[in-house]
Amino acid sequence: MKLGYFSLSPKKKECSECHEKFHEYEDLINHVKMKHHGPLLRCHNCGQEFVKESDRYHHLQEEKAKKLDFRRHR
Ligand SMILES: [Zn+2]
Ligand SMILES: [Zn+2]
Repeated sequence: MKLGYFSLSPKKKECSECHEKFHEYEDLINHVKMKHHGPLLRCHNCGQEFVKESDRYHHLQEEKAKKLDFRRHR
């Protein structure tokens, strides 16, 4: 079993404008920035950028889950 992989995040690494696919989510972010000058969303906690509101939503869920996890282990 692989640790460190969070299956909770359904981030699609595909550009919604031109349907180009990427291996890393960061590559998609850069692509949207450079090619489409698309409006990016930011996590207000850590500043991470997202292409879609649903991606940011899932990221926030992950951060919440991590915080809860942290508390449980203390
Ligand atoms: Zn594109
Ligand atoms: Zn964050």
